[in-house]
Amino acid sequence: MIIIMKPGASKEAVRHITDLIESKGLTAHLSEGTQVTIVGVVGDKTLLANSNLELADGVDKIVPVTESYKLVNKKFHPEPTTVQVGPTSVGPNTLTVMAGPCAVESREQLMETAFAVKKAGANFLRGGAYKPRTSPYAFQGLEEEGLKYMKEAREATGLAVICEVTSQRALEAAAKYVDMIQIGARNMQNFELLKECGRAGIPVLLKRGLAATIDEWLNAAEYIISEGNHNIVLCERGIRTYETSTRNTLDLSAVPVIRQKSHLPIIVDPSHATGVYSYVPPLAKAAVAAGADGLMIEVHPCPERALSDGPQSLTFSNFDGLMAELEPYAKLSGRTIAGKK
Ligand code: PEP
Ligand code: MN
Repeated sequence: MIIIMKPGASKEAVRHITDLIESKGLTAHLSEGTQVTIVGVVGDKTLLANSNLELADGVDKIVPVTESYKLVNKKFHPEPTTVQVGPTSVGPNTLTVMAGPCAVESREQLMETAFAVKKAGANFLRGGAYKPRTSPYAFQGLEEEGLKYMKEAREATGLAVICEVTSQRALEAAAKYVDMIQIGARNMQNFELLKECGRAGIPVLLKRGLAATIDEWLNAAEYIISEGNHNIVLCERGIRTYETSTRNTLDLSAVPVIRQKSHLPIIVDPSHATGVYSYVPPLAKAAVAAGADGLMIEVHPCPERALSDGPQSLTFSNFDGLMAELEPYAKLSGRTIAGKK
């Protein structure tokens, strides 16, 4: 449940409420907006029976939160969250663009791509060092060597860098080298890994599972936030449907749905959603028009030689063209492209 304080309620009144909640063994989370303060209560609400909270000084009203996710719920935190990531941020007003290869394949491939995407206006470099491949015989990633190249690219370009982790071991290694951790679709419900990400404190990009509902996805985010890590960005990357023309089906409605249910930023990945490079630009534009806070786009110096996801990767010149075409869409959505500021 949430307790909405009256506009201008005194600090003492808020303090009285949080003390009362904590004295019953529950946790109080404060969300201090420009107008009102909201106190979120997490724990067994029956312990507050007979507390007459609604009669306490400064309390406007008590609203039950029926959803199982609480701290990621917009009811707890009505204002949109901006997630600070290394030298940049993800949130309202800007359009974040995370671009780079599916997998880090070599130092040269990564550095070349880093400079190209930076020049085109991306503010993040993406690159997988631990690849969750469908076949165990497919390229599995360079692991720590790949992370070192990511760090080097970060230092050379000033881009924030993001890398997927698939295990606790990978998380511990990646936290030393990158600005943001990606939890991929296949691990969206790896609850132990989510809790570890929560405890690690590093910003997390949480992709939607291949067959996850939006409520399951928000509950996965709740696993991270409930461990104390509030720096979470959601990523819609397509879901499994009966359609076979595309790798997945991009659920663009996730953007307004998430906007209504949660305060967390949401970005869209049209590369994994479609699996086809020529479908990426129209859906990237549609995602921006739908209100996404950013995009994740796969870019490779030579897609036909890529060790993974070549068919969906943009060449440097295609990416450059897309970034130019995105500008009016970003402007209409009231955003500036973060890397072009
Ligand atoms: C990726 O980003 O390279 C990836 C494997 O994405 P997803 O988890 O969305 O399939
Ligand atoms: Mn990929």
